[in-house]
Amino acid sequence: MSTATVLVVNSGSSSIKYQLVDPVVGTAVASGIVERIGEDSATLKHTSGDTTVEREQPIGDHGEGLRAVLGLFEEVGPDLTSAGVVAVGHRVVHGGSVFSTPVLVDDDVVAQIDALSPLAPLHNPANVTGIRVARELLPDVPHVVVFDTAFFHGLPPASATYAIDRDVAREHGVRRYGFHGTSHHFVAHEAARVLDRHVEDLATIVLHLGNGASASAVLGGKAVDTSMGMTPLEGLVMGTRSGDLDPAVLIHLQRNAGMSVDDVDDLLNRRSGLKGLAGENDLRAIHQLVADGDEDARVALEVYAHRLKKYIGAYLAVLGRLDVLVFTAGVGENDDEVRAAACAGLEGLGIALDPERNAGRKKAPTIISADWSRTTVLVVPTNEELAIARQALEVTEGAGLSRDDADPAAVGHA
Ligand code: AMP
Repeated sequence: MSTATVLVVNSGSSSIKYQLVDPVVGTAVASGIVERIGEDSATLKHTSGDTTVEREQPIGDHGEGLRAVLGLFEEVGPDLTSAGVVAVGHRVVHGGSVFSTPVLVDDDVVAQIDALSPLAPLHNPANVTGIRVARELLPDVPHVVVFDTAFFHGLPPASATYAIDRDVAREHGVRRYGFHGTSHHFVAHEAARVLDRHVEDLATIVLHLGNGASASAVLGGKAVDTSMGMTPLEGLVMGTRSGDLDPAVLIHLQRNAGMSVDDVDDLLNRRSGLKGLAGENDLRAIHQLVADGDEDARVALEVYAHRLKKYIGAYLAVLGRLDVLVFTAGVGENDDEVRAAACAGLEGLGIALDPERNAGRKKAPTIISADWSRTTVLVVPTNEELAIARQALEVTEGAGLSRDDADPAAVGHA
């Protein structure tokens, strides 16, 4: 472990995920999760080295949750003072049109994130709560916010703009913001590093395929298009989200099927995607259903792969060429069948996998294309926590709050 660590915090509406990251060595020193905050009984899991502690206890709110986490650091380790925590990095989902880079937290920043809540009603209020309690409990370390949208802040108007009435769009912030930006940025840069190329020289497509899924087109290290839009609902078929569909479907369901706005929200965000098509959102379960002869699951896989292929083709056209295609996140890293289905038949576009290289789960960056493929296809495991930790460290160093200036003894918690 090097001398500086960053505590990365990801607050959901009823959960707190955290990792104590060594941003130089690139490893997690400790990690954990508090779930079901506010319910009868919450669960806590904390891992430090080889030790994992799991608990169940009532946790009323995020303040109590974070206090419990700090208690676990004291009890199980590592001790936060000797771990040299130089910053707390908070993941924030929506930075709107306001935030294009990670920033040091102050009261104004918190208020601005809160004001963006209408754009991400499920996420930003939870992020704000997490930041508030963390600042109260860890007042002596700088806090930095890293936005999921930031990498896409500079999207060209051609890809960021929806073709609707410009006044309505401006008044209500209706444009494409993009999400998973921390992962897309990390993976695009990591792919260039692995290939010993400069990211500035590359045209890259990143496919972040997790339970949520998104694609991005990256030219010279900058995002020029991405599949998620004003919210994380647009684009690819996901675990429980529909991705792209005719907007008139919403009008139809509300006019003719007696569905309310909330019903439609629930349908498209939680009862669609693979879950809607096949009853399961996990690709492992879908493959099992297909093996058992389930026709709906087979079609679900086809719809999933077809959408991926459409985005690969579209972004190849947007970029004008394709040097690198990268798969990442839970599905992208682990599911060789999905990777093969997404690339099947694309040889004419210069994309050809090597079946042996593609086979199996990938825990490290791996080239999976054939030698003769014009595009190099890779799997690069994403690591959003490490990316957040590194960005938080950069911001604190840039603000003159480097380790040399910090008083390590002051890193205790209130
Ligand atoms: P993430 O959101 O990145 O954590 O990805 C979670 C998703 O990854 C799960 O819902 C599964 O669909 C997928 N996944 C995880 N492990 C595997 C695996 N071994 N094979 C296929 N898919 C997997």
